Amino acid sequence: MANNNRKVVLIGTGMVGMSFAYAALNQSVCDELVLIDLNEVRAKGEAMDLNHGLAFSNSSMKIYFGSYNDCSNADIAVICAGVNQQPGESRLELLQRNTKVFSSIVPRVVSSGFDGIFLVATNPVDIMTRVTYELSGFNAAKVIGTGTTLDTARLRYLLGKYFEVDPRHMHAYVIGEHGDSEIVPWSQAVMAVKPVTDLIKQHPDLYSMDDLDRISENVRTAAYEIIKAKGSTYYGIGMAVCRIVRAIFNNENSVFTVSVRLRGEYGLRNDVFIGNPCILNSGGANRILELNLTEDELEKFKDSYKILDENFHSIEF
Ligand code: NAD
Repeated sequence: MANNNRKVVLIGTGMVGMSFAYAALNQSVCDELVLIDLNEVRAKGEAMDLNHGLAFSNSSMKIYFGSYNDCSNADIAVICAGVNQQPGESRLELLQRNTKVFSSIVPRVVSSGFDGIFLVATNPVDIMTRVTYELSGFNAAKVIGTGTTLDTARLRYLLGKYFEVDPRHMHAYVIGEHGDSEIVPWSQAVMAVKPVTDLIKQHPDLYSMDDLDRISENVRTAAYEIIKAKGSTYYGIGMAVCRIVRAIFNNENSVFTVSVRLRGEYGLRNDVFIGNPCILNSGGANRILELNLTEDELEKFKDSYKILDENFHSIEF
């Protein structure tokens, strides 16, 4: 990866895409940011608007409206294009419509000569990541979805409040589908180094499994609640995308619950993209961490895997 000019192409300059772009500018995560959208007028307007903020930022980022030819020497292609979830609509219902959108995007990115990393945020994100993998023919390590990164952030935020500890010291993950079948494997959740299950045993007057189950339910339904309140969700996911981009550019070997193609973990076939802790660096998805799940957690993870696989196979390309 050429890191003397960190170049990102953003495809889809709607609410999610521009929340990422705004975070990227404020955090100076790249040197060049190209905006592409079916709605060219909007993408041009967004480029103008961001450029007017440059003077107030610490960045000298080059931001411009572009075309698929601009992908040729980009390091990362962030895809946020697509149709949004309507109130009450599940992420999986978006699938067919967004597959059509991706069929008009991914082949054009690839034919530009692009040799970087695809980072997908469009929902249903796990399946759209697999669609990107299939359409691109890229090595699976270079095709990543945001997966349950945002859900994990929501979980840590709520656990931090519940246990009254900095969320950065709550090590707990949401795995599986970014959607209704996602799971919180409580057997793997620790405050610093102390399992939360031990905390419950030691302080039954303060903490309970019922409370934790309520927290995981809140995480699972957070998007529905935000969509009901304000139409769509975008700041959180925009910042999650920005954080992942930074981890890739900085070759961090940081762990995120991104959507990745399994490599035989959990005894499952290795063709499904699903949220699981993964070490990310400049080569993309470096190592997938297979968790020591309880029987019940593994069963739920397998159910989630099955839903993602069946829905992928329901797509008409
Ligand atoms: P939006 O409607 O504001 O923006 C979508 C953009 O995609 C529009 O600007 C539209 O013109 C563009 N677009 C549509 N078809 C295109 C094409 N063929 N080529 C190029 N551009 C095209 O929607 P949004 O709120 O930004 O949401 C975008 C996606 O992100 C949705 O699928 C949404 O469900 C998803 N999302 C994901 C997460 C997550 O955690 N992964 C969180 C929130 C939203």
